Amino acid sequence: MNTMYESLGISREVSDFAETILAGLEVRFHEIDETAEYNQLKVIKAMQDARVSAECFEASSGYGYNDRGRDTLEEVYANVFQTEAALVRPQITCGTHALAIALSANLRPGDEMLSISGKPYDTLEEVIGIRPSRGSLAEYGVTYAQVDLLPDGSFDYEGIRQALRPQTKLVEIQRSKGYQTRPTLSVSQIGEAIAFVKQLRPDIICMVDNCYGEFVERIEPGELGADMVVGSLIKNPGGGLAPAGGYIAGTLACVEQCAFRLTSPGLGREVGANFGVMQSFYQGLFLAPTVTAAALKGAIFAANVYEKLGFAVVPNGTEERHDIIQAVEFGFPEGVIAFCEGIQSAAPVDSYVTPEPWAMPGYDSDVIMAAGAFVQGSSIELSADGPIKPPYAVYFQGGLTWPHAKLGILKSLQRLVEKGLVQLP
Ligand SMILES: *Cc1c(COP(=O)(O)O)cnc(C)c1O
Repeated sequence: MNTMYESLGISREVSDFAETILAGLEVRFHEIDETAEYNQLKVIKAMQDARVSAECFEASSGYGYNDRGRDTLEEVYANVFQTEAALVRPQITCGTHALAIALSANLRPGDEMLSISGKPYDTLEEVIGIRPSRGSLAEYGVTYAQVDLLPDGSFDYEGIRQALRPQTKLVEIQRSKGYQTRPTLSVSQIGEAIAFVKQLRPDIICMVDNCYGEFVERIEPGELGADMVVGSLIKNPGGGLAPAGGYIAGTLACVEQCAFRLTSPGLGREVGANFGVMQSFYQGLFLAPTVTAAALKGAIFAANVYEKLGFAVVPNGTEERHDIIQAVEFGFPEGVIAFCEGIQSAAPVDSYVTPEPWAMPGYDSDVIMAAGAFVQGSSIELSADGPIKPPYAVYFQGGLTWPHAKLGILKSLQRLVEKGLVQLP
């Protein structure tokens, strides 16, 4: 094993250090494997109950009428997320698009949307019109209100009660912290907030941005009353195989609204060819529980390695996990850069390129990104990025297999050691 690691540029010193960290993670990893086992069974049961057959993988073209593979897949998603219905399509281009459909399909001029988990994910700012943008909900006369989480990361129930107005039609809850420093919400916390809202106003639609959270726990927000659960197929539920796509699982009423918005009034779910991607959607979902487990192990390993070396990590090494994102705060730009170089050099694709900080649209500082992915932009594959500004934190996520996630972290550490930026104990 050591010889193999050495052939990939990992020194004995670095692998020995990694092994001492790993020795302390056995119990955590065992728990993750048990969750993966539970969720694997859940997915298999969902596929069996929907009677998935080999014909489901056939390609369709044109209008895509009577597309059995597509319709059955949507039934499988509804089974997995325990909702009445689901929309799972390659025509949904990404997570932001799925969320934009869910919102614009269920809101009308004069309605108000209320976020109760603070500022939503960056790309939603333009969807909502928090930052003015063409085609935003604001342009269509939908207003927006927000209740921030309390300093300890929990819901501000009194604030929510006060923010509910007669025109409030939809409440948005973002499960993952995304690229903020707040803790990620657990499904049970989300369930409590939904119960609170519904008890005051049963008519309000509760939508959960589920990105990065799928299969991290044994339950999903639909089981605790969410009317819509929304996410991207190039994150957890695509299992690394889906080449694109998004999903919306929820009540039949909400999902139908989404279908009429995605395709056209009158057409709804009946149209939408599958272009031959069905096998990757099914097989990706089948693999998603173990792929998510691999990414989680990578995140926990990284947290413990860098915590041991004295850096602040969010979540910390022992915290319970509700998504797959790990932040490491280096405090100096060279740390962020070396970390990303290491992740890049561990990739199966594009391992020979060196990532560099660059100006990116929508960011107020240079950003460095590392990804050597089979699917462009896929963040269930091993990837890291960080803005080159204080506190000089890097965000790390993904890994289709645990050995790859482990190699990525070892390579990052090796780079930091070689550049004299950290000293092993
Ligand atoms: C990734 C993400 C999105 C947007 O998904 P894209 O596929 O990048 O458009 C929205 N919300 C959260 C919390 C995310 O992590």
